[in-house]
Amino acid sequence: MDDFQLLKNLSEAFGISGFEDAVRERIKDLVTPLVDDVRTDSLGNLIATLNPGKEFTLLLDAHMDEIGFMISHVEEKGFLRFAQVGGWDERLLPALRVTLKTREGKQIAGTIGSTPPHIQDPDEKKSPLKPDDLFIDVGAGSREDIEQMGIRVGDPVAPHADFLRLNETCIMSKAFDDRAGCAAIVRALEALSSDRPDFTVVGCFSVCEEVGLRGARTAAFQIQPTVAIAIEGTVAADTPGTADRKNPTRLGKGPAVTLADRSIMVHPKMFRFITETASAMAIPHQIKTPIYGSTDAGAIHLTRKGVITGVISIPCRYIHSPNLIMNMEDFTNTVKLLVAVSQRCKKVF
Ligand SMILES: [Zn+2]
Repeated sequence: MDDFQLLKNLSEAFGISGFEDAVRERIKDLVTPLVDDVRTDSLGNLIATLNPGKEFTLLLDAHMDEIGFMISHVEEKGFLRFAQVGGWDERLLPALRVTLKTREGKQIAGTIGSTPPHIQDPDEKKSPLKPDDLFIDVGAGSREDIEQMGIRVGDPVAPHADFLRLNETCIMSKAFDDRAGCAAIVRALEALSSDRPDFTVVGCFSVCEEVGLRGARTAAFQIQPTVAIAIEGTVAADTPGTADRKNPTRLGKGPAVTLADRSIMVHPKMFRFITETASAMAIPHQIKTPIYGSTDAGAIHLTRKGVITGVISIPCRYIHSPNLIMNMEDFTNTVKLLVAVSQRCKKVF
């Protein structure tokens, strides 16, 4: 499977927070041949271990979940009300194509509907539609139709997006935050399984990051890492309308290394280790402008007596939308940096 196939396979999988099963199954198939042990913990984190039982343990973490919605109410005429799961820009919701997953696993297409502009007052048109006025339309005519389709309150809903290759370097789809991080760990485990370090490496694919770094918290507690790296799809705003000083990362400039975000002040030793490794290996990289976003590193570094944790990110434009744009060279360089950092970390920490 080449990198495009891998990213398509993982980003298209349905997996809002708390409903990561399909993503987990795909990753499990990919990592099982690479590592010595694969297990799923009680919350659903997938934990893949290379060289278990050594004293020094490196944790590589990426989250499997994406932002989405949950059905909260069925209207008499068959329209579905929903709650938001994760940090949406509410102005982007109208006309979003969505996929609903029933308890039986059936996937149902729909759209977020709203009142057409033709029948809105001029005043109404001036203000963004309120999430409370929005609903999901799956083409049903009544509550009975909804029941027959197997749809229930509590069913998860994800944005719908096809994976597209825009040109030689750029791809577009949903959920690169953080399936790109998951894909990078899969690639890193491939490299590390054929050139084994003399310590334990754990690839953790975590649940529920988008609703408060939840899976990584319990995963790190049980893994007890010596050091950890979180790999993320992060904010790139190298687009019209954003001042350079406010832009966290840029596409095509390589993996972004975090100094600090809203969840962690990265230990200077870790920041220097990552950037010096990148420079020594001539891997293009950039520094993520502080202090935007939060990551699983926020939960991991506060585990037990504290874990020195770094963050390496792949820049994504239009993050938390259904149409993220990512640069494949950034992905390749992220994998290179991740492997180099993994192989060197024991000597430094
Ligand atoms: Zn993320």
